Amino acid sequence: MKSLQNTRTVTTGTNAEHARLHNRRVILEAIRLGGRLTRADLTRLTSLTAQTVSNIVAELEQEGMLLVHAAEKIGRGQPPVPLSINPDGGYALGFHVAQHSIIGVMLDLLGNTRAQVTLAVNYPSFDQALPLILETVTAFRRQLPRGRFLGVGVALPGPFSVEGMTAVGPTAMSGWDEADIALRLQQAVGLPVLLENDATAATMGERLHGIASDLQHFVHLFIGSGLGAGLYLGNRLYSGHWHNAGEIGHMTVVPGGKACHCGNHGCLERYISIAALLEHLGQRADQDISAWDMREPRFTAGVQAWLDEAVPALRQAINILESLLDPQTILISGFLPAAILGRLVDSLEPLSRSISSRGDREYPRLQLGTAGPDAVALGAAALMILAEISPDYEALLKPE
Ligand SMILES: [Zn+2]
Repeated sequence: MKSLQNTRTVTTGTNAEHARLHNRRVILEAIRLGGRLTRADLTRLTSLTAQTVSNIVAELEQEGMLLVHAAEKIGRGQPPVPLSINPDGGYALGFHVAQHSIIGVMLDLLGNTRAQVTLAVNYPSFDQALPLILETVTAFRRQLPRGRFLGVGVALPGPFSVEGMTAVGPTAMSGWDEADIALRLQQAVGLPVLLENDATAATMGERLHGIASDLQHFVHLFIGSGLGAGLYLGNRLYSGHWHNAGEIGHMTVVPGGKACHCGNHGCLERYISIAALLEHLGQRADQDISAWDMREPRFTAGVQAWLDEAVPALRQAINILESLLDPQTILISGFLPAAILGRLVDSLEPLSRSISSRGDREYPRLQLGTAGPDAVALGAAALMILAEISPDYEALLKPE
C-alpha cells in the first residue's frame, strides 16, 4: 500500500518574480475582460494592493500594452483614468501546417486578424516547412517594423510522440515528431514558439473567433486527413498529461472493424476522416480534395457509401464524448467540403440517447463550427497571446 506521503505532490511555493509575472497577467486579463477599467477597479477586482496595481500598470503603460483614456471627472479629488488594452501593444503569429496547406495569420493583442497567407504544399516535412514559415514570419514582421512580437504558435495534426500512432498511415507527416522541433523553430524564428495539435488550436479558434464565444464546456471535432477532438472544459483548454487529450482518431468504435495502420481494428478515423472518404471514392488517401466538386456524379456513390459507414461510427463517438464530458455542445468542422460536412451532420440525426438528451438544453447537441478555414492558425496565434496576458495560460510559456 502506498504511504500517504507518496499519494500527492507538494504544492510548490512561488517566488517574487513568478508572482510579479502572474499578477501582471491577472491585471491584463481583468482589463481585457472588462474593456475599460481604472486602477481602483483593478484593485477591487483583483484583490491586489493599490501599490502593486499601480506598479504593474506603470510597467504595462511603458511597454505600450495599455491605452490611457481621458480622465472621467466625477466629484472631487483625483479623477479616475480608464485603461484599456492597446491592440497594437503586441502581435502573435499562428501557423496551421497541414498535409496540403500552410496557413499563417498575424493577430494583434485583442485578437484582431492583421494579416493572413495560405501556401500550397504537399505533405511538408519539418525541413521543407521551416523556410516557408520563416519567410512568412519575416514578411509579417516587415508590415509592422516597430511591432512587439510575442511569439509564434504552430499547430499540426497530432498525436505527438505516441509509438506506433504518430508517424504511421496516410494522415502522418514525416519529420515532425522529433523532440527538438519546438526548440529548432524557436532558434530559427528568434521568438518564443508553442506547438499544439490542430484540433486543440481549432478549439481556441472557435472560442475566440467562432460560435463558441459564450461556451464554457464544449468538444470540438476536427476532421482533417485524420480526426482529432479539442476539449474545452471548465472554461479552459484541457490537453492532458502528454498533450494528446482529445486525440480520438484511434478510439475503437467498431470492435473487429476495419484494420488500421496503428495495428488495431475499428478505429474512429478509419470511418470519420478525409482519408476514409477518399478510400470510398477509390482515390489515394493523400489526395487534396479542397478543389473537388463533390456534387459531380462520379462521386455520388462513394460519398453515400462513406456516409453509410461514417454515421453510425460518429454517433457512437458522440455518445461516448457526451457521456464522459457532459458538454454544453459538440462542434464539428475541418477540411471536409462544406456540403459534405452539412450532409454528415444532417445524417447523424437522430443522435443516440445519452445524458445530453435533455429538454432544457441551451444549444443543440451538435453544431457546425463557424471560425472558417483559418480556425487552427487563429487558435495557434491566440494561444500565444493568452500565454502572455492570461493567468490561465501562463503555464504554456514555461520559464527557461
Ligand atoms: Zn488506429
